[in-house]
Amino acid sequence: MDIIVIGAVAGGATVSSQLRRFLPDARITVIGKDSRMGFATCGMPYVLGGLVDSMDSLVSVTPEQFWDKKSIDVRLRHEALEIDRRSRSVLVRNIVTGETETLHYDKLVLSPGGSARNPEIPGSPSIPIFTLRHFGDMVNFEDYLESEKPRRGLVIGGGFIGVELAENFRSLGIITDLIEHNGRIMPIADPDMSGLLEEEMEKNGVTLHLGKEVCSVDSGTVSLDDGTEIEVDFIAAAVGLEPNTRLAEEAGLGIGPTGGIETDPFMRTSDPDIYAIGDAAEGRDWFTGKPKRVPLAWAAHRQAFIAAGHIAGGTTEMDGLLGTSITKLFSLTAGMTGLSEKMLDEENMRYETIVHESRSNAGYYPDNGKLRLKIHYDPDTRAILGAQAVGEKGADKRIDIIATAIRGRLTMDDLAAIEIAYSPAYSSPKDPVNMAGYKSM
Ligand code: FAD
Repeated sequence: MDIIVIGAVAGGATVSSQLRRFLPDARITVIGKDSRMGFATCGMPYVLGGLVDSMDSLVSVTPEQFWDKKSIDVRLRHEALEIDRRSRSVLVRNIVTGETETLHYDKLVLSPGGSARNPEIPGSPSIPIFTLRHFGDMVNFEDYLESEKPRRGLVIGGGFIGVELAENFRSLGIITDLIEHNGRIMPIADPDMSGLLEEEMEKNGVTLHLGKEVCSVDSGTVSLDDGTEIEVDFIAAAVGLEPNTRLAEEAGLGIGPTGGIETDPFMRTSDPDIYAIGDAAEGRDWFTGKPKRVPLAWAAHRQAFIAAGHIAGGTTEMDGLLGTSITKLFSLTAGMTGLSEKMLDEENMRYETIVHESRSNAGYYPDNGKLRLKIHYDPDTRAILGAQAVGEKGADKRIDIIATAIRGRLTMDDLAAIEIAYSPAYSSPKDPVNMAGYKSM
């Protein structure tokens, strides 16, 4: 069987590896535009901030290793230009030489990810503007930071990538402003949780401009719509992601309402010989079953496993997505899983909320931190609908417990009953998760 995979980073590297495990005799070819394969995209902000000192440490595998160990032919600096579904072939161009070639497939997997959106900035700004999506973006940005040693930077966008960039610029000593056109940072979270993160950013020297837009950039002066002027040396734009659907669209594959490539529970597109996974693919929400796209690494890797299994004859289905996520922001961690207040309101779902504020573990133990845990649940069935945690310690563990509880269809009563490991360094005899369960009774 000939299998072609388009995209060689998160989903592409994993799906091809899994395919080799399941199908020892298949001819597998992976086409990737970037100069590296399977690199840890999520580590890029920390390379810029100097916490990770070598960008090569983000690259865990090379095409040579894939060939030697797995007999998978990875062609980097190659771009898939066109899919011909009738002849089951892909037109591929070598970006370096310009040569093209047509490759046949029996099964095709699309994992082309997304492209960073560019912010709308009137005129032609005379200062550098960076986005961070590909390995090459990081190389360029890192070169600039090293050679120019900028004093002031502006981040546009207060989502995951924007806040991580702001933290990393601060650790380089860069005076940092952040603009978010929504009235708060991390707008995916509930407003009170965003508020805690905003305080933390300001405490750490990030000047926030919330509910504002850039009007103009004139040789280093950025003007906002409220008249504020900010002197900056560079702009880092983190204003979202466009799923890379061009190939799929031109091939006539279905595109769903979230803008991602439509898939069934086996990650098949509207053509049963073509699969789509990762940031470009549309899945379903765990609770509502409605179309949902979660452009995060867990989804890409899980979908890769499901698609590879199905190509090999397996029947494991992709369940709905919870959108579980986490981020570090200076001394705080913010995690969430399931539905937020906004999502629940949009769905007209009835819910009640428990907020529990405590220490992460025994208060007398030296290493403990503040933790705010918030859980939304259905008052009739007591099913858990979503949770958010922000704190100095232990937010990750509580969010992961609750994501597991949702998946296991546990209720708020079960949260009180989970027998959680306790010793003073880790928890309390009544863990915050247990307490949230008790408080809801
Ligand atoms: P990608 O990993 O982006 O791979 C797609 C590849 O396909 C790219 O190399 C692209 O160039 C290539 N491609 C596109 N079109 C073609 C074509 N026509 N021909 C050949 N190649 C093509 N997620 C988390 O869960 N946690 C995090 O902490 C986190 N941090 C992140 C930080 C940053 C700065 C960024 C940018 C992303 C982060 N993510 C994080 C998101 C995560 O990296 C993505 O969800 C994941 O990489 C998606 O995998 P993918 O295979 O769909 O796309």
